[in-house]
Amino acid sequence: MAAGVGMRRGATAVGMSDFGELQDFVSRGRRLFVLTGAGCSTGSGIPDYRDDDGQWKRKPPVNFQAFMGEAATRRRYWARSLVGWRRMHEARPNGAHRALARLEARGQCELLLTQNVDRLHQAAGSRNVVDLHGRIDRVRCMGCGRLSPRQDFQDELGRRNPEWVDRIAPEAPDGDADLESADFHSFVVPTCEACDGVLKPDVVFFGESVPRERVEAAARSLERADAMLVVGSSLMVYSGLRFVEWAARAGTPVAAVNRGRTRADAMLTLKIEASCEDALSFLL
Ligand SMILES: [Zn+2]
Repeated sequence: MAAGVGMRRGATAVGMSDFGELQDFVSRGRRLFVLTGAGCSTGSGIPDYRDDDGQWKRKPPVNFQAFMGEAATRRRYWARSLVGWRRMHEARPNGAHRALARLEARGQCELLLTQNVDRLHQAAGSRNVVDLHGRIDRVRCMGCGRLSPRQDFQDELGRRNPEWVDRIAPEAPDGDADLESADFHSFVVPTCEACDGVLKPDVVFFGESVPRERVEAAARSLERADAMLVVGSSLMVYSGLRFVEWAARAGTPVAAVNRGRTRADAMLTLKIEASCEDALSFLL
């Protein structure tokens, strides 16, 4: 890994909101490994889970063991998702997504690793993307592994639960919606047509691990990159944080654009506290 980007190490620039330094960092890195998080999509109307301190803004999202083990948790999850999916489905890329697609078009993106499940990087034109935490536009059967489009499942949920279709609720992250007081007992959750297995969004839930081959492929890309850029992530989840740790250990400079603190502040070469769209606008 070449460390010749020429930025200071030691995070002395943390807190500086100088977009010029970021432009400089990006121009000097021949090949960047980019890691993006929820802050990249807030400008597209998809709410974030965490506040500027990296703390939960709301109840933590559903846990894998509870989803797989409890029919009541699945009813609650899918009822909220039936209502919340619309905004996720209609969301469009914003300037941050377009800027990163431009970075790839300039030949400067070794890999775009995203913690987001919304597919907005692909919608903006990025091709070399790994969806670290999976994708919300697909449903996976946990019995036979069959994949199907989330929109088809949406239609089926609507057919089985017509009284839920026109509900309006405050939107929550990842196609979820806040329906705390609603009674979910009558909600019908379809199972796999082929094997009657449990259907789950094709995303990595809390309490579930990221598939090893996905992590290894991304780690190989990081080794080929000569700088790392974090966009809109507080890095509170280890699945993302570890890439910064690996970069720092290898002497690869890391810049981050994020509102508020990140768990990796002490490892950063450059930190920009601003909206992702504003900070990356020089690429457009
Ligand atoms: Zn199945």
